[in-house]
Order: sequence, then C-alpha cells, then structure tokens
Amino acid sequence: MATHRIYYDDSFARDFEANVLTCEPCVHGTLPAWEVVLDETALYPTSGGQPCDHGKLADANVLEVRDDGDEIVHIVDRELQPGPVHGCVDWVRRFDHMQQHTGQHLLSAMFQERFGRPTVSFHLGAELSSIDLRGAEPTAEILEGAERAANRIIFEDRPINVRYGTQEQLAQMGVRKEVDRTGILRAIEIEGADLQPCGGTHVHRTAQIGTLLVRRCTKMRQDWRVEFACGARSERLARNDFRLLARAAATLGCAADDIASAAARIVAERDTNFREIRSLLQRLAELEATSALQSPSTGSGTPIIVRAFDETTHADYPGFFSTQLAKAEGVVALVGLKGGGQVIFSQHPSVGKDMNALLKRTFEQFPGKGGGNRDFARGRLTDGAYVDKALQFARAGLQEQSQTAMRQ
Ligand SMILES: [Zn+2]
Repeated sequence: MATHRIYYDDSFARDFEANVLTCEPCVHGTLPAWEVVLDETALYPTSGGQPCDHGKLADANVLEVRDDGDEIVHIVDRELQPGPVHGCVDWVRRFDHMQQHTGQHLLSAMFQERFGRPTVSFHLGAELSSIDLRGAEPTAEILEGAERAANRIIFEDRPINVRYGTQEQLAQMGVRKEVDRTGILRAIEIEGADLQPCGGTHVHRTAQIGTLLVRRCTKMRQDWRVEFACGARSERLARNDFRLLARAAATLGCAADDIASAAARIVAERDTNFREIRSLLQRLAELEATSALQSPSTGSGTPIIVRAFDETTHADYPGFFSTQLAKAEGVVALVGLKGGGQVIFSQHPSVGKDMNALLKRTFEQFPGKGGGNRDFARGRLTDGAYVDKALQFARAGLQEQSQTAMRQ
C-alpha cells in the first residue's frame, strides 16, 4: 500500500498521527533496528539531493527514512506494535534542509534565466550545499549577479506554491525540465521566478529561505560546482568569516580591509629576506671554508675536513659550506647538521674517490636515505643523534682507503 506523504501538501507538519502497518527487524550499521511502514507520514525520505528527516515514532528514534517505490520505510531503534502511533519531525534539521533546498530552486533559476547556466545536479551537505552548472566557467560577475538576484527575490517575500498537473499542463505553465514520469506530477512555483517539478519539502515564502550566500566555484569534470548556504548557515558562515578576518587583522596589525595588501607586502618582504639570507650564508660559507682550509684536520694524504653543525644552524648552510670546501684542490668535506640528520659528502674532482658509495656504506651502519654522484652526495640519517658518529665513520673509511692505496 502506498504511504500517504503528508509533507506533499503540508511541509510544515511537525507532528502527525498514523498507523503502524508493519514492523520488521533489520540491522542499521552494526546495531539491531526495525523497518517500519506507516499508512501516512510527515517524515521526508532521502531523495533528490536532500538528506532524510530525523524524528520520533512514539518512543522510537527515527534513524533513517527511505523511499521504497510507493512506500516510505522508517528505520527506528526499537520495535513498534501495529496500530496507532504519534510521530514527530526533528524540526531544526528539517527547516534547515527546506531553507537550503528552496534556496537551490531559486539560485538555479537565477543562473538559468539570467546567465544561461542550467543546473545538472544538487547536493545538500552538512555545512555547505552545491549545484553543478553546465556551460562556460561562471565569472565572478555571474556568481555575484545570481546571488544578488536570488536575494532580491528573497527580500520581496514572494509566495511559494505547490502545483499539480500532467506533463503537458505543467509545460503550459512554464516548466522547462523534462520528467520521465507519467500521470499527475507535482511542481514547485516561486511566484514570478521559477516552476520546477519536485517531490521535496519547501518553505512557504521566499523570506523564509534567509540570506543566500554563494561561496566557492570549482571545476568538476565538465561542470562548475557552486557552493552556497542559506538561512542560519549563512549567518554562521558570515560570523566565522568576520572572526577569521578580525584575527588576521590583529596579527598583521592592520584594518580588516587592508589584510590583502598587508599580506602581499609581508610575502614580498619574506622573499627579499630569503634572498638576502642566502647571499649572506654564501659569503659566510666562503669565509669559514677559507679558514678551515688553512688548518685542515688531517694526517697524511688527502685533507679531510669534518664538521657537524648544531641545530641552530640554517638548514641551507651545510650545503654552501661543503660546496665551498670542495672547490679546493685535493679536499674532501664531510659535513652534517645535528638534530635534522642531514649529511653531505663532497670532494674536489681531483681526489678521485666515490662520495655516493661512501654515503651508501655509511647508511649501512647508520640508516638513512639519500644519494648523489662521485663528487657530491647528500642524505638524511633516520636518527639525527648519530650525525657525529656517521661523519667519523665516513672519515675512518676514507683514511683506510688511502692507506690501502699507499701500501699498494
Ligand atoms: Zn524542491
């Protein structure tokens, strides 16, 4: 038997009396639940992009409402006996859904009428809702134009009517959309603005939609996804935007209107500082390398300079320093940065050893990742505490090689 849908003609019915026709056990998620069919209901099932209502049937909580052909199935958390039952709708949730859903009718109509962008799908989300528009990318002017036009109709507080008729009758009334259903169809009219076939729940007058805010527009395959919010959601978004702007303005020490220019200035300053610091680090590395080369800590053979910088050193510095050292003929530089675990092995090409192989051998003893070529190899130890030991290990390996070579 078809369930009579009270919300078709009275979308503001919050309480209703009905009869339980069937109540069958089922599973909801992993919990035991019951599927209840009533002779009539004011609870809206998930459909047309709008999530289902929540509410109560007697003491049972309604967890989900499903459209099953002509019947509506209520999933509840306890068993109900056949016979009369009092039902109620979670009104905060439903009214919010009606605001977003009716707002969607209006916004889609504005995109279609004024800018020739038809809506191909609708999604009512937990925070924001969205429509997908077909056609060329909507410019900022189009997005703002549709938002402004929708809000003007909201402020005019126009009536929203439910109309019934056959496909032909609705077409005569101005419904553009083709529907593949026969018989008597239901359509929603926003007076003077829109007429759409729809089986959903809507507010009575446009002012009940509340302010409509258009948010981001992003590419979604061949279409354009436009996010929006209505009613209390707009209020929350605007409040949150204001808080964020106020916090950003306080941090930047400027007025909210100047945030964009202040942020641009700070980014430009940061980029300049970055370039200056790199240039200073380069000069410092040249000086420190010159000084290190004057007193190389070597025995006989190849001068090997070993240096582990502490954590306060700029992360780019060990690289500059080792590159400078390896410019000097016959020198090998084994450099590291404590804490982060960075290690860099480099040599002047005249030395003729293999830095990459040396790094790999070091990683066998002190695990890490990295690589390079014969003259320059860099990597990172898994445990930054072993930088000193890894450098000493590499130095010992090099000295051993040199001594073996000399004996040969
Ligand atoms: Zn609708």
